[in-house]
Amino acid sequence: MFKELLSAKYLAWHILIALALACIVAFSINAAELSAETEASIGNWIGIFGTLFINALKMIVVPLVFAAIAVGVAGMASQKSFGRIGGKTIALYLLTGIIAIFTGLALVNVIQPGNMQIENAQALVTGIEGADASDMAARVEGRSWWDLVQIIVRAVPPNIFDALTNNTGLLAIIFVAVVFGFFTTKLTGAVRETIDNLWQGMYDVTIAVTLWIIRFAPIGVFALVTVVLIQTGFDAFKPLAWFVVTVLAALIIHFFVWLPLMQVFLARVNPLKYYGKVVKAQLTAFSTASSSATLPVTIESAQEAGVSKRVSSFVLPLGATVNMDGTALYECVAVIFIAQIYSVVYGVDLTIVDQLLVVLLALVTSIGVAGVPAASLVAITLILLVLDLPAEWLAIILAVDRILDMCRTSTNVTSDLTIAAIVARSEGEELPEVRTA
Ligand code: ASP
Repeated sequence: MFKELLSAKYLAWHILIALALACIVAFSINAAELSAETEASIGNWIGIFGTLFINALKMIVVPLVFAAIAVGVAGMASQKSFGRIGGKTIALYLLTGIIAIFTGLALVNVIQPGNMQIENAQALVTGIEGADASDMAARVEGRSWWDLVQIIVRAVPPNIFDALTNNTGLLAIIFVAVVFGFFTTKLTGAVRETIDNLWQGMYDVTIAVTLWIIRFAPIGVFALVTVVLIQTGFDAFKPLAWFVVTVLAALIIHFFVWLPLMQVFLARVNPLKYYGKVVKAQLTAFSTASSSATLPVTIESAQEAGVSKRVSSFVLPLGATVNMDGTALYECVAVIFIAQIYSVVYGVDLTIVDQLLVVLLALVTSIGVAGVPAASLVAITLILLVLDLPAEWLAIILAVDRILDMCRTSTNVTSDLTIAAIVARSEGEELPEVRTA
């Protein structure tokens, strides 16, 4: 019985328990008021297990993405089905992104988290002029609107082998894999068989390794979350409480209302059952704050819910890089929050046109940023620069960024999984275990 409870069947529960333990341990460490040194050294020791887990996931991402896409594209019966699935996927990615951004936009305008008393606004602004200033200057330096165009240019890599060594350049890897998968279909005879087997073998072995790594998720999740909770003191939240509330409320609406509605009406799956199957991916995303590192777990969870290899291996790697609803929403809320503080201090408001520009830029940059922790910060910097707002003011939100990153990454991954289910059902897949009656 006990052995049964420890089996992989209950992995999602193991991860949930790990999460609860992390909260208890971090809370006890914070309450014990240990010296900063002791606290840091406990954090470092626990952190080793988190780093091992993330490293293992990252280790498998590139071969998995390459093999999954090459197998998926080579296996699509015709050019037409590739175009059809690709078209649907991209349209849905844009749709969910736009819904997420408008949800954030509505809440940030209603709650107005940045509309505070002038003394508080000034305190926040002067607060960033200390230690963070040089770090911020380094982040902001040399960035411009042109960076956005470069995202597209970088999707076609000048050197395949270079591209395959860069975990943050998944778009380039996807491009190479699609091209190789596609041209595999042009081969014939024994060569075709050999190459098909090569991709398939690579895929099978990477999935096997993935399953093995996922077994360590409870330990990884425990370590990652404990360290974040120890490092983020609760004091950091006080001046930014309304900002945090706005972001969380918008994410919750997207996660618990819009995405489930799409699951019911577009995918005809039961959200409770579907979330039950993919919770491992959601929790891994939460603890790693990286869609890319979570990708192996995302693919595995989708397949466990019944989504075919053909759909999941194309839709999910693409989603992990270009479909980031939580990120887009966060960028929009963060930029407008900073603009609201700017307006309190200097009396200059954003116009409606500016706000629409934010929507557009949040959508474009969320497509372009990599699925790694804190990737949004770069995008927020770019948007602030375009709006002529002081980009260093990004430092205002840094203290709470990691926790919000965990929540938005979980939303990003859930959106990818939702679209995988919609595309799968539209391609005639049954998903018997999660479909609505
Ligand atoms: N951490 C996010 C992700 O990996 C990106 C971000 O919003 O910073 O999906």
